[in-house]
Amino acid sequence: MRRSLFSSLLAIALVLPTPHAAFADGLPDLGEAAQGDFSPLVEQKIGNQIINEIRNREPSYLDDPEVNGYLNRIGGKLAAQSENGGQSFEFFALRDPTLNAFAMPGGYIGVHSALILSAQNESELASVLAHEISHVTQRHLARLMNKSSQGQAAALLAMAVAILAARSNPDVAMGAAMAGQAAGIQNQLNYSRDFEREADRLGIQLLERSGYDIRGMSSFFERLQKFGRVYDNNAPGYLRTHPLTNDRIADIEHRIHERPYKQVPDSIDFLLVRAKLRSQLDTPQEAITEFKTQLNQIKTKKFGNEAVVRYGLAQAKLRGGDVAGAEMELAEVRRLKLVSPMVETLAAELRVKRGDHAGAIRLLTAARSQYSQERALTYALVTALQDAGQGAEALRVATDDLTSYPSDARMHALQAKSYAQVGQRAEQHRAQAEAYVLQGQLAAAVIQLEWAQKSNDGSFYAQSQIDARLRELKKQHAEELKQKKTASPQKVGAGATADFSLFLP
Ligand SMILES: [Zn+2]
Repeated sequence: MRRSLFSSLLAIALVLPTPHAAFADGLPDLGEAAQGDFSPLVEQKIGNQIINEIRNREPSYLDDPEVNGYLNRIGGKLAAQSENGGQSFEFFALRDPTLNAFAMPGGYIGVHSALILSAQNESELASVLAHEISHVTQRHLARLMNKSSQGQAAALLAMAVAILAARSNPDVAMGAAMAGQAAGIQNQLNYSRDFEREADRLGIQLLERSGYDIRGMSSFFERLQKFGRVYDNNAPGYLRTHPLTNDRIADIEHRIHERPYKQVPDSIDFLLVRAKLRSQLDTPQEAITEFKTQLNQIKTKKFGNEAVVRYGLAQAKLRGGDVAGAEMELAEVRRLKLVSPMVETLAAELRVKRGDHAGAIRLLTAARSQYSQERALTYALVTALQDAGQGAEALRVATDDLTSYPSDARMHALQAKSYAQVGQRAEQHRAQAEAYVLQGQLAAAVIQLEWAQKSNDGSFYAQSQIDARLRELKKQHAEELKQKKTASPQKVGAGATADFSLFLP
């Protein structure tokens, strides 16, 4: 259900009686919260809860390792330039037609697909990420919470949640009501503009240190503002009140004034990720038409990257079920010598569509030795091996991979499937339990371990490990239940800080 998560958060936040007390009750760590300190540890716990909710329940969560992998590479490069005191970051994409990005506690940064698509160059996208990273490193959410009066804290929660809910709410009346509420609350938060300015200022530093064109920030924000103006009259409340003001843009321009012009070429990843996202918009036929228009433009104006457009065309044709057409476009991509792991996963996917699992496995194995960091290749390889009935080899690859990426929930789930394929029941449920733990689903993990106990096909050593892990998880789960009982779950709402800077159509 699209709305269930956010509307329930909204309901919770709005009935919040005395926010400070409620915080103290609701936060995972009572000691720190009771002192009124919204500590990094508390923030991290709240952030983990929200991201798990989003991954497990938010239908617009874009579960694409290639898109998210790209965002994490560019975001990681920017974050490495900040004085962040060891803060970790995770970037993820949401399939959403509005232009938005937001930072959550714990360093989780969400980016709407439309924002990625509307960036005209990579520096523009980087500028939004740099701005969000700075909100996190400056601990703006915590500072708001600690500084604000109780009423303001409640209002902030309500606004943050209302904005998140309005973000994807197809029900116009409901969305408008929530946005109206958000608008009223916005007026109380007159310091949020200072935070915006600070995030802009530090964001520009990150951009510069990471080698991007700092003009990306002013050009993007200016365009966003213009775009917003078109919709001014019937825009929802949060659009009319968002503080992306002329002042702020002037401030950014002042900062980058007289800096030498810097031409930064877009990475091929940026172009391919955009082409992939574009191929998923509208109907496949509409996407195909759009890419064909782009091809014509390249021929007449000699501007653009034909191989990238062909890649998008191949993705769109594949989505429309035209495997032969997609193969023809892929051949063009190869002929134009576009080299990327994303081309290899597409090629493998096409082989699988043809029933050529051996071919897919060959392609993915070769690509993996070349691009060892690319998660999508390993997921695809394990899946292809499973589909080809090579459970033992799939298990070997998955197990080997987990030694390098032990907290990869998806790989634990793939490992579980491989164990099932080779008939090791205890290990299957044990691996699935770990996948659930990493997704924050302790109840489901406990059930899996109970099944692991009962399957009784593991070694004595494995069985005693399962017993110990089960005891540990049961204890954790009991504690979690106890906390939920005494606490109202508005702690989840508390963390859902939306960005105040980029609420544009
Ligand atoms: Zn902001």
